Amino acid sequence: MIKGNLFEMVGRRFCKHGVRASTLYLAFFLLSPLSLLARPKAQAPSPINLSVDATQVSQRILRAKLVFPVRPGPLTLVYPKWMPADHSPDGPIWNLVGLKFLSGTHEIPWQQDLVDMYAFNLVVPSQTTSLGVSLDFLISAPGPTIDFSASGAANLFVLMWNQVILYPKGYAASDLIFHPSLTLPKGWKFSTSLPISNQSAETIWFAPVPLDLLVDSPVQSGEFMRIFPLNPGGSPPQELDVLSDDAWALDVPSELVEHYKRLVAEATALYQSHHFRDYHFLLTLSDNIMGLGQEHHESSDDRVRQHTLVDPNERLLVAGLFPHEFSHSWNGQYRRPEGLATPDFQQPMKGDLLWVYEGLTDYLGTVLTARSGLLTAEQSRDRIALTASTLEHRPGRRWRSLQNTANAAQILYFSVPQWASYRRGTDFYPESILIWLEVDTTVRKLTGDRKSMDDFCHAFYGGPDGQPIVKTYTFEDLISTLNGIAPYDWRSFFRTRLDSTQPSAPLGGIEGGGWRLVYSDDPNEILVAEEAAPSGSGNFTSSIGLEVTRDGTVVDAIPGMPAFASGLSPYLKITGVNGREFSVEGLRRAIQDAKTTTGAIEVEVVNAGKLVAYNVNYHDGNRFPHLERVRDAPDYLDEILKPLTLTSK
Ligand SMILES: [Zn+2]
Repeated sequence: MIKGNLFEMVGRRFCKHGVRASTLYLAFFLLSPLSLLARPKAQAPSPINLSVDATQVSQRILRAKLVFPVRPGPLTLVYPKWMPADHSPDGPIWNLVGLKFLSGTHEIPWQQDLVDMYAFNLVVPSQTTSLGVSLDFLISAPGPTIDFSASGAANLFVLMWNQVILYPKGYAASDLIFHPSLTLPKGWKFSTSLPISNQSAETIWFAPVPLDLLVDSPVQSGEFMRIFPLNPGGSPPQELDVLSDDAWALDVPSELVEHYKRLVAEATALYQSHHFRDYHFLLTLSDNIMGLGQEHHESSDDRVRQHTLVDPNERLLVAGLFPHEFSHSWNGQYRRPEGLATPDFQQPMKGDLLWVYEGLTDYLGTVLTARSGLLTAEQSRDRIALTASTLEHRPGRRWRSLQNTANAAQILYFSVPQWASYRRGTDFYPESILIWLEVDTTVRKLTGDRKSMDDFCHAFYGGPDGQPIVKTYTFEDLISTLNGIAPYDWRSFFRTRLDSTQPSAPLGGIEGGGWRLVYSDDPNEILVAEEAAPSGSGNFTSSIGLEVTRDGTVVDAIPGMPAFASGLSPYLKITGVNGREFSVEGLRRAIQDAKTTTGAIEVEVVNAGKLVAYNVNYHDGNRFPHLERVRDAPDYLDEILKPLTLTSK
């Protein structure tokens, strides 16, 4: 998953539809649950009927009714807490309202558990075999922090089924069979990877589905939607489903669609397997819901600002979104670390292998972004350089290892960007790009360029094609797969890099790839796009050690660097630079000018209402990060970024 605010860190980092008479999947589907996980102790109470009424979604309310087969006596129903793609206990229970439990028309009293806020206890009366539950879910407006409830607006919404369900405690999600239906506002279209069994004018009845696959299959719906097949006539079908607040935004530039087609072809060539029956990129273009990229087995829930595909800077910054989320269908969904593959949504997850689940996905996504032409090789190198530079300027490395950022992911996902350099955030995403690049170049070196991470992908993600299943793995499985490709002390290789508290980032992959990280006055294209994008900020990380929003508010001042040394810190607001009103461009010019002067850069600041002036002593220019070729070293990086196919050039 990539959450909206993470896009900002180092370069921004995203159906079934309509009526398809042929899409009549029947009960055989019950034989293909997602999980190979823990089996239940007792026969699971199924099927559970779920009907969701979204006709009032424009008023930000979803209404749901469930019917459970029950036996008289104590019963605990739970609301999903730990979501598989989030790696965090973030089920939005605060927006669950209007909860009622019914035996016939008789209302049953209930109590929220005093310790587990996600559990509801009640006693089913004698003679009762069927329990009715009604609940509403409140959709939020997108706010400054992550809120998964911000999934709908006036003209569209994304239904995340976990928001509108309860389920009986103590059963594996793969053993609870739901019969879901959904009623939409009149005339709204929809898309989802869920098989459909029947449909009337506004209501869709989906085929019976295990709870884990239901929660893994969001539905995108709205007034304005358009479908782009990405492998026309191919098998399995893969398509782009675009939803937006307005009709104009559905005109996806044709060259972009061509790149997405190449992405599908390149992923097929890289993984040589597929673990979906069909695949849907559910792309929502809207300024009215939370930005997100969330992976699923057979779809991805990708949400970006409405202008993203037509704004060249925004488009550059989200180039890696589809490649990342699509790669998750193999890495994260099909192959999942043991600690993240819990049998239900209540048991805590262990994030120690997130540097593989998310980190390797970020690496493979980077590779596929280049191979599909979504970024040129040069733009990809600038992106890697910016990532490396960001991680080189992280004083938090001295106290918090990369391994700890993964272990602590469940709290770090919710940390603010302020002080990110000292706290460290979810660094297991970007830093793992560097580590897995080093794995790739090391394998190439060890095998005389006969093997690579492509071979790892064939071996690790292969298996029976077609069905969405989970196959868990451990650190040991990873080591043994790598040893099968290129024998090496991979255990020490990873532990050295993961447990390090040294100040420098792991740059061995860049060097092994035939390049080196350098700094110059030539602008880094990705960084320039970050600054120019409508939501952009000023990134002065590698010069004075400062990140600042367009209005001058300091996001980060890196301890040990000139801006922090002058007195600046997060939350202060810069109002002036060298006697002129603050602007990002003005500060950049002042930094460049200081290269040829001896005086300090003077900044005027508001600190909680107090006016202060600081002198930033710095004369080394803008120091934009780049990769520079090491002469005579083999150019493995170039080889890695080249397409495997020659489709639709
Ligand atoms: Zn991800």
